[in-house]
Amino acid sequence: MPSMRKDLTLFGGYHSPQVEVDVRLNTNESPLGPSIEFLSDLQAAIQSLSLNRYPDRTAARLREALAALHDVSPDEIFIANGSNEVISTLLLAYGGPGRKAMTFEPTYAMYAQVAKVTSTEHVGIERGLDFTLDLAAVLDANIKYRPDIVFFCSPNNPTGLDEDPEIISKLAEDSNPLIIIDEAYGQFASFSALKLARSHSNIVVSNTFSKVWSMAGLRLGYLIGPKEIIDNLWATCLPYHIDSIKQAAGLLALGHLDAMQATHDLILAGRYQFETGFDALDVIYWKSSANFILFRAPHGKGDELWKMLVDGSVLVRNCSGWPRLSDCLRVTVGTPQENDRFLKVLSEALVELRSEVDPR
Ligand code: PMP
Repeated sequence: MPSMRKDLTLFGGYHSPQVEVDVRLNTNESPLGPSIEFLSDLQAAIQSLSLNRYPDRTAARLREALAALHDVSPDEIFIANGSNEVISTLLLAYGGPGRKAMTFEPTYAMYAQVAKVTSTEHVGIERGLDFTLDLAAVLDANIKYRPDIVFFCSPNNPTGLDEDPEIISKLAEDSNPLIIIDEAYGQFASFSALKLARSHSNIVVSNTFSKVWSMAGLRLGYLIGPKEIIDNLWATCLPYHIDSIKQAAGLLALGHLDAMQATHDLILAGRYQFETGFDALDVIYWKSSANFILFRAPHGKGDELWKMLVDGSVLVRNCSGWPRLSDCLRVTVGTPQENDRFLKVLSEALVELRSEVDPR
């Protein structure tokens, strides 16, 4: 038996702890499953598929439908098993030994993880105190490190803040790294970076069916960008990586825009419910453009609050041990009932914790 690659042996991989609870608000999925109509259409579509045959290798029909949705050409779309696989294909094609990827921390941990697995050097630049980016700092980092690849996440996970399109386009013009804008939560934001991808030959935008489309269990994501880059990704990925059922599901989902819109509206209303709840409870939080909100527990009480929420059968993401995020938790917007339950358990926990911090 060979041993595992030495540079990976001490590496724990990506974990999002799961605990049995009534209310799961920890992994930023949609709180609703796909619609009944979608499911029955999918069932019918599966009956007519030739599952003994390999799928259409380039997912042509799905690419055409996505191209129509985003008003781009099908040649400008790469499809993968979730946007995580988009990230990994990008780093396989453009990263690797001798190449450098830059991220702005805190951000989605998979960029650094996939960089490691693909032996791409990772440079993590700190965001400002309020977690926004500063143009001069981004351009300085670009001159200092000369990355081959730069990741932006908009809205950013876990802060929920939009990236500044001005900064991205200035960086794209300043030098020529491959710039990836991850818009996994883009549908909840008020701006999309897609126009940047249309006007710059070095910008690509990734998207997913895992959030507003309620299809995290089906693993479907895609990337929009210049044809030359997209061709390179199709050349890099494994053959037949997008199975026939997934292709059919993606196509059908795009025909059920009303259901997606209803989920979208429910989530935005839930986000507002959280904001008003946090304001009423005097909780510090970051104004989010996504389907989750980052908030801060009383000083030194992050782990304790997370545990108290779990005891109340509500699971959120505990970010308090992450760099720069001491005492921070991240909650995903759920159904109105789940949101009520979270706010109720939170409010009870805060009464207890605040009496410990300030026993007057
Ligand atoms: N990008 C970001 C910023 C995410 O938060 C996630 C999911 N946690 C993903 C990409 C991956 O999504 P998926 O692979 O399900 O498309």
